[in-house]
This record gives sequence, structure tokens and C-alpha cells, in this order.
Amino acid sequence: MPHHQILVLPGDGIGPEIIAEAVKVLECLRQEHGLDATLDYGLLGGRAVDELGSPYPEATRRQAHAADAILLGAVGGPKWESLDRPLRPERGLLAIRADLQLFANLRPAILHPQLAAASSLKPELVAGLDILIVRELNGDLYFGQPRGIRTLENGEREGFNTMAYRESEIDRIARVAFEAARKRQRRVCSVDKANVLEASELWREVVERVAKDYPDVALAHLYVDNAAMQLVRAPKQFDVLVTGNLFGDILSDCAAMLTGSIGMLPSASLDAYGKGLYEPIHGSAPDIAGKGIANPLATILSAAMLLRYSLNQPALAERVETAVGRVLNQGLRTVDITATGMTAVGTQAMGDAVIAAL
Ligand code: NAD
Repeated sequence: MPHHQILVLPGDGIGPEIIAEAVKVLECLRQEHGLDATLDYGLLGGRAVDELGSPYPEATRRQAHAADAILLGAVGGPKWESLDRPLRPERGLLAIRADLQLFANLRPAILHPQLAAASSLKPELVAGLDILIVRELNGDLYFGQPRGIRTLENGEREGFNTMAYRESEIDRIARVAFEAARKRQRRVCSVDKANVLEASELWREVVERVAKDYPDVALAHLYVDNAAMQLVRAPKQFDVLVTGNLFGDILSDCAAMLTGSIGMLPSASLDAYGKGLYEPIHGSAPDIAGKGIANPLATILSAAMLLRYSLNQPALAERVETAVGRVLNQGLRTVDITATGMTAVGTQAMGDAVIAAL
């Protein structure tokens, strides 16, 4: 196993609390299961502003470039909300994503059968749900030029953005989806709006072309409106969904809510070479920070994704995921996923239980 460098960015709010538990898991894998990795620590977000005057300081930038993978807690909080925009913690997050050219956002929506009651959908529709949404992060309406607000000849103002995708951008995100599908059920569903949008027409054509390199993976297409409908009608039909920035933004949040438990969901943002930033999908939860009750499982599962996608250690990733499943089987729940009749455990107790299950 080659030696790996992991940068840990605890961040703000509950960030340091949940990261501490994920680090315990990585340390356990290092000491007992052959993981050859060094952990380095850095600052991002609010604390980085306080201590170094920038939400993405130069020191962190250097650490991030040197690392094979980055594990992030969460950033932000009321303390920094009134700062000028460039100094806001969330700017640090956007800056590190852009700086490292992380173009592929992987968001699994997994509903552990033990938590089926937490979903707003009927348990039988979602129990055992396991979807992976692959969202393109660097293009589309969010970055397309021209954009702006202009004044028309009649004096009325008009806001405008440009939806644009280059072939190379579509090609590389499609490949991420097909490669990911190979590690799963080998089914990709590409989501677009090709009946109306030229950008989507090209999207569909390029995805079809890439699919020829993956004859072992089945490809289907859905228009985004139908995809949204199918996600809440029969979500278990999907394996990997691949889509652009705008549609992915909306569909991935919709898929997350199918699971009903924000404290359980990890994510990855990858560059073209497999380097990635791994983080829970939730924020820094200032309302519960410092109370020791935050759910660390989304962060622990983010560490599992890091092992799978950046360190190429699928066996270790699976070991962590299995341990999380065992802990849920034992009936352990943090306050966000607890059900009637169950006693909630704290952040540390949950982390300790995962270590024991490892
Ligand atoms: P949030 O995700 O932090 O919290 C939403 C709700 O979910 C809160 O009630 C919170 O207590 C709960 N929650 C979140 N994570 C939990 C966990 N692990 N265990 C138990 N409960 C959990 O979203 P918000 O309140 O809208 O944002 C708070 C701050 O986080 C803001 O400053 C926001 O900008 C920032 N934020 C950061 C990220 C990020 O770092 N990637 C993402 C979203 C929001």
C-alpha cells in the first residue's frame, strides 16, 4: 500500500467534534488494519479567518496541494455572518473547491434499513435505498458567460445567465459516473432536458459516446422533470445518476431528504486525478455546537469515501461502512436519528461504538 497524505480540516461549529471521531476511525485503521497514511491538520473557514485573516489561507492552500485527500468537517456560523463577503467562511469552501479543480461531486443517498422510519416516504419505498448522484460542479448556469443584470431599451431590467457545457466537461463527468457504476450495480441514468435545451442535447450525445467505452454498464436517460418525479415515486430504481450542476444541485438535496437524516450523509468532490475533498453534506450546526450531541456518522462515512475514491482502499472503506451498519443494528442513535423508545448517545459514544465495531 503506498503512503498517503491526508489533510484534516475540522472547520467550525460541530466540525471539530465530528472530525475527532472520524480521525479516531482513521487512526484505528492505521494502527490495526494496515492503512499507511499521515494525517496533517489545517484551518479553513471561520477559525482560519480568526487566526490567519482569510477563510482559505495560503498555508492551507499549500497543505491542500500536497495532500492526496482532504477530510473536512463543516464551516460557518453566526460569528462570521456579518463579515464582508470575501471573508465569509463559505468563501473558503468555494475557494478550495475551485483551487483544486474539484469538478465531480459525488453524493450518495443511502438509507440504512434500520432508519427507514426517518424518511418522509413510506418505509417500503426507501428501506435499503442506495443511490449515488454524480453532479458536475464547475460548469453550467453557475459559471456560464455572459451573465448579469442589464437594462433593456424600454428601461426594464433583465437578469440573464448562460447554460453552457463543453464536450470535454461532459466527457470527464460522464467517465466519473461510469467508473463509479463499475464499483456498484453498473447502471447509469443521465439526467438532462434534451427536449428543450441545446446544452442538454450535446450532453446526451457525449454521454452516449462515453458509454461505448463502458459496454458493461447500462445507460438510461431521463428528463430532469421526470427524474424528480421518479426520485420520490420509486427511488430504489436508481443506481448512479449523473447530471449537470443546476439539476444536480436540486436533485441531490431531494435525494438526501429521502433518507430523512442529514447527519448520516457523506459527500466527495473529486478532481481529474482522484484527489478529493470529503465532507458531510450538513453544515456546522451552530445550534448544537459544543454540546457533544452531533452525529459523527456522516463524517465517518465521508472518511470511508476518502478511502474508496482517493486512496483506492475499497476493503477498508467497506470495513468502516459495515461497522456503521453494525452500530445502527445495536440500536445506537444520536439525537437526530433517534426514534421513540430509544435513548440517544453522544458524539463520542457513537465514535467509540464504531471503533469497537471495526
Ligand atoms: P446545518 O446543516 O448546519 O444544520 C441544519 C439542522 O440540522 C440544524 O438543526 C442542525 O442542528 C442539524 N444538524 C446538522 N448536522 C447535524 C449532525 N451531524 N448531527 C445532528 N444534527 C445535525 O445547516 P444550517 O443551520 O443552515 O447552517 C449552519 C451553518 O453551516 C451556516 O453558517 C452555513 O453557512 C454553514 N453551512 C456549511 C456547510 C459546509 O461547510 N459544507 C454546508 C451547509 C451550511
